[in-house]
Amino acid sequence: MSSRAFLPTTRDDLRVRGVSELDILIVTGDAYVDHPAFGPVLIARFLEGQGYRVGLIAQPDWSGPQDIARLGRPRLFVGVSAGNLDSMLNKLTAQKKVRSEDPYSPGGLPNARPNRATLVYANLCRQAFPGLPVVLGGIEASLRRIAHYDYWSDQVRRSILLDAKADLLVFGMGERAALEIARRLSAGEPVGHLTDIRGTAHVLSRRDWQPLALAPSRTPSDRRVVVLPSFESVCGDLKAFASMTRAFQYETSPHNGRPLLQVHGDQAVYLNPPSLPLEEADMDALYDLPFVRKPHPGYRSERIAAFETVHHALVTMRGCFGGCTFCSITEHEGRVIQSRSEDSVLREVRALTRLEGFKGTVSDVGGPTANMYKMRCVDEAIERACRRLSCIHPKVCDNLGTDHQPLIQLLRRVRQVPGVRNVFVASGVRYDLAERSPEFVRELALHHTGGQLSVAPEHTSPEVLGKMRKPSIEHYERFSELFCKASHDAGKDQYLVPYFIVGHPGSTLQDTLELALYLKKHGLRPRQVQEFIPTPMAVATCMYHTGLDPLTGEPLYVARDLREKRMMKALLFYWDQESWPLAREALHKIGRSDRIGRGPECLVPPDWGATRTGHRPLRR
Ligand code: SF4
Repeated sequence: MSSRAFLPTTRDDLRVRGVSELDILIVTGDAYVDHPAFGPVLIARFLEGQGYRVGLIAQPDWSGPQDIARLGRPRLFVGVSAGNLDSMLNKLTAQKKVRSEDPYSPGGLPNARPNRATLVYANLCRQAFPGLPVVLGGIEASLRRIAHYDYWSDQVRRSILLDAKADLLVFGMGERAALEIARRLSAGEPVGHLTDIRGTAHVLSRRDWQPLALAPSRTPSDRRVVVLPSFESVCGDLKAFASMTRAFQYETSPHNGRPLLQVHGDQAVYLNPPSLPLEEADMDALYDLPFVRKPHPGYRSERIAAFETVHHALVTMRGCFGGCTFCSITEHEGRVIQSRSEDSVLREVRALTRLEGFKGTVSDVGGPTANMYKMRCVDEAIERACRRLSCIHPKVCDNLGTDHQPLIQLLRRVRQVPGVRNVFVASGVRYDLAERSPEFVRELALHHTGGQLSVAPEHTSPEVLGKMRKPSIEHYERFSELFCKASHDAGKDQYLVPYFIVGHPGSTLQDTLELALYLKKHGLRPRQVQEFIPTPMAVATCMYHTGLDPLTGEPLYVARDLREKRMMKALLFYWDQESWPLAREALHKIGRSDRIGRGPECLVPPDWGATRTGHRPLRR
């Protein structure tokens, strides 16, 4: 594949295209894979499709500004993104250990991007192109747009916009905002005038923020600015931090979210309301862009794991109305589901079948949640006014359209495309929605499960699930029954793989023991258990940091000790001999040694060696 099909990344690429100057440069912390699943590339291709000359610099050398400057100074602005993940999450585990592999780098190279990549790249851009507007975007910038708790430094940090000294920050899905920035800068407007673009934030001086702070919004119907507790107050006061999180949560709707202001010393960050959701035609147009669907040829044959996951997968929608507290998809992609048309997805399937190496298997048809495709509030006026944080918690809203027919129909058509032999659903399935459609569960079991289907009940305790904003375990059980029956009827030997989280705020060792006993009773042996990671701006991160539920103000238990979290994990690995010493330690700690033994009510066997010698079991 010629590199001409890709976005320009070198001076030679510009020369070959006869381009003397770019309009926009995008810098990303991920490898350059020309695929819509790579966010900064999606934005770059989108802007190119709107007629701008766009270049891309992936994983630049950050020892100096030369690499970032290699395509020359662009005419309008430079867009900076850390990549598809927060760079700290990409680097470090829940146990704060360095990850051995970066799935977004060629060959899994773990050091291809700096820590806090957005800050480092923005600094280099300012050095390389003095006076050029610098615009931040992507997950890292979006989820650090106000003061936030940073798990890896165990500190409350300022809005990333102030630390990066950038001109603008685009939050959420950035197409509309990026296009408006490009158009207005191209029309000659100074960047300092771009203060009213939805989905963007900018910095105000004291002179400009003081009048706004003196006339804040008092009621949801009052459209004036909502003043969040200042950075200084949320640093020192846990209740103020919780109240900031609560206020922020209620302003994330694109339809009724109000502007936000947060003072940091003499300056303030001003956030316009979120961007409006894309319409179906806009979504289709995005996926019709000329993606090569391959890593840049400069990487030769180095493996990029994140690309392999999406290479033969289809994204049908974006957004999530679930509002799980440990996840930030709702804060980033929005609560309104934005779906592609069937025809658009089918065009992509046909393109997939023509790809070299495609052997007939579509590895996924989904998005953040596979079965939210085309689901929406039944009434647009109600949706516009609604200020609920989740459409499905604590129960599925009566106004939510939960019809699975559009998805069933789409999957049927994908299966019929010549050259397609298997179509899997690997994205998460919301089982509290799926159980409403036995027909969907039958189709899922019969056609779209490759032996195992991953689902995420996350826990069994009603209290912990309440803190997570997840449905009760009875929903999982009903779905499991439907799925197993449908698999049996189809003559297929397949099963569910449930995922669980340990260490979520509100969960104790005792809760984890109850979960482990449930797993044992049902013959479930989880192979993967996620340790809760407090990622920036999630509601659960606020719980972790403050020990408070920001929505109720109630105190809750938080497992902060890394060893305690390892003990929780060991309890769920009750079937694994390696985990027994730590599981026994956990049981002793909570006074439940009665669960150590050989009986069916016991979780792990006794340590015979320790019993005979009188020594404590070895610690891992
Ligand atoms: S009314 Fe119900 S379905 Fe509609 S947006 Fe609000 S919570 Fe969601």
